[in-house]
Amino acid sequence: MRIPSEVYTDYRVWIGIAVLLVILTLKIIGTRTPQEKTFTCSKCRKREDHNQRTIRAWRKGKHQFFCKGCHQVWIRAKEPRHLIDSSAGCVSLLVFGFVASSAIIYTVLKS
Ligand SMILES: [Zn+2]
Repeated sequence: MRIPSEVYTDYRVWIGIAVLLVILTLKIIGTRTPQEKTFTCSKCRKREDHNQRTIRAWRKGKHQFFCKGCHQVWIRAKEPRHLIDSSAGCVSLLVFGFVASSAIIYTVLKS
């Protein structure tokens, strides 16, 4: 079977080949997994099996992994719950200050 020479000069053929190579490369990268099935937690040194989260991190080039327990602690520490509590405390302090100063001003003006 002989391929006609027009095929080599047609840019659409080369674009098709390039698209195919990009798709294959993405497929290969998307299915890569670490060679070791387990890892040592970078915080507590516990040995644990790789999971989807650590495999995703590995694919992004990360070399430090954390076990589920340490990851949950980190997630909880990251939540801005303490900010909400402290701002609620600020608002109640402002309301108390406003009410207290109004009461003092009212008492002074009345006398
Ligand atoms: Zn850990």
